Amino acid sequence: MIRSSTIGVSLAFFNSVPMTECDYAIIGSGIVGAAVAYKLSQRQPRATIRVFDKEPHCAAHQTGRNSGVIHAGVYYAPGSYKARFCRAGLEATMDLCHANRIAYEQCGKLIVATDEDELPAMQALFERCAQNELNPVMLSRAEIAQREPAIHAVGGFLVKQTGITDYTEVARCLLSLASQQADCRVLYQHLLHDLEETASGVSLSIRTPNGPEQVKTSKLINCAGIYSDEIIRRQGLDCDFRMLPFKGEYFKLVSKYNNVSQHLIYPIPDPAMPFLGVHLTRMIGGYTTVGPNAVLTTGREAYGSLFSRDAEWLKVFGHPDVWKLLWRYRKSAVQELRSSLSKAHYARLVSRYCPGITAADFLPYRAGIRAQAVDRSGRLIHDFKFIESAHSLHVGNAPSPAATSALPIADEVISRMF
Ligand SMILES: Cc1cc2nc3c(=O)[nH]c(=O)nc-3n(C[C@H](O)[C@H](O)[C@H](O)COP(=O)(O)OP(=O)(O)OC[C@H]3O[C@@H](n4cnc5c(N)ncnc54)[C@H](O)[C@@H]3O)c2cc1C
Repeated sequence: MIRSSTIGVSLAFFNSVPMTECDYAIIGSGIVGAAVAYKLSQRQPRATIRVFDKEPHCAAHQTGRNSGVIHAGVYYAPGSYKARFCRAGLEATMDLCHANRIAYEQCGKLIVATDEDELPAMQALFERCAQNELNPVMLSRAEIAQREPAIHAVGGFLVKQTGITDYTEVARCLLSLASQQADCRVLYQHLLHDLEETASGVSLSIRTPNGPEQVKTSKLINCAGIYSDEIIRRQGLDCDFRMLPFKGEYFKLVSKYNNVSQHLIYPIPDPAMPFLGVHLTRMIGGYTTVGPNAVLTTGREAYGSLFSRDAEWLKVFGHPDVWKLLWRYRKSAVQELRSSLSKAHYARLVSRYCPGITAADFLPYRAGIRAQAVDRSGRLIHDFKFIESAHSLHVGNAPSPAATSALPIADEVISRMF
């Protein structure tokens, strides 16, 4: 792996290195970069498109480490990018899977209240669905018990549209289609190290295993996920937010739980933090996971322990906005940290709606790290964010449901460029 923590040596250093040119340079082969490559190759079949990723394969970070849910768009503020793109992305993702024989299943999502106190919040969420043009089905305790005998709930509602897929497969497919439609190539182990916007385009300094390279592109599209803010700053653009890494830890359930539920089971979330709340997820592959929690972690790619070599304590915790964030959301921060420190506590969260599950039913499973933008006052930026200059377009914030929304995000990128 080529690490990107070293972005930032002067371009002058690379004056004698090999130089190539392309019309479009996309940074990142996650689902967003892959979707942009696909849409761009459709729109500009004669263009040279290069996708650069620092890893040896596509979807190595968020895209390959998520829950695999094709969201229907329950929680998002009506009219926001998230609400609109998620709704359009649901259809577009399933159509793409269908047309290209990628496994997907429209299993539906059951959002459950586990005690009477949660019923008002459940009702509010149900009404939010209507604002987002969904038509959920309210279910009584008895109806839930009939549909999902292993699940305990006093009430709930079913969003039939929600599905599951494997986003690594989706990203791989989009990149392959892009290479069939245009001169589009993905260059792995190519780390964008530095960049400079000029009058005619953007000059990129790339690090490869064979040494440095320089690339001149007419247009740069930054889809670097958790590193997107570093690239925006390095280009000299104003960036009023920072990406913070929130680790999401999962467990795989032992095989007797493979068919524990027919639907995805979600608890009622805190309306201010709708992405929190560990859920029970049927996965493509026939197994079930629980998770993820959301814990501010020590590095942008610190998947291991707190003291792993990926830890960047100072980079994450050395800014006042982090401490403002932790203070602002202190109740949730403590709850999420508790679930990270104690497997037994994590299991209790799941057993509220799936009684009988204990930590002994948990097998290890890969963690993911959410790239979440935070503004200078320590507030989470919920919606997708785009930043532009004459020759560049940066996808600045693409947290969940950006996997579901990747195709409409790519449409937005393209409509802003032409
Ligand atoms: C735990 C978790 C669960 C989630 N669950 C869901 C879900 O169920 N459904 C859903 O819709 N969304 C979900 N999401 C959100 C979704 O996965 C992300 O929003 C989406 O994958 C973002 O895609 P991306 O392409 O922007 O980023 P990424 O997938 O992170 O890709 C960024 C790419 O850029 C590359 N890169 C970075 N810097 C450089 C550089 N300097 N040079 C070259 N390459 C670089 C990286 O190697 C990486 O491949 C989840 C996210 C997490 C973490």
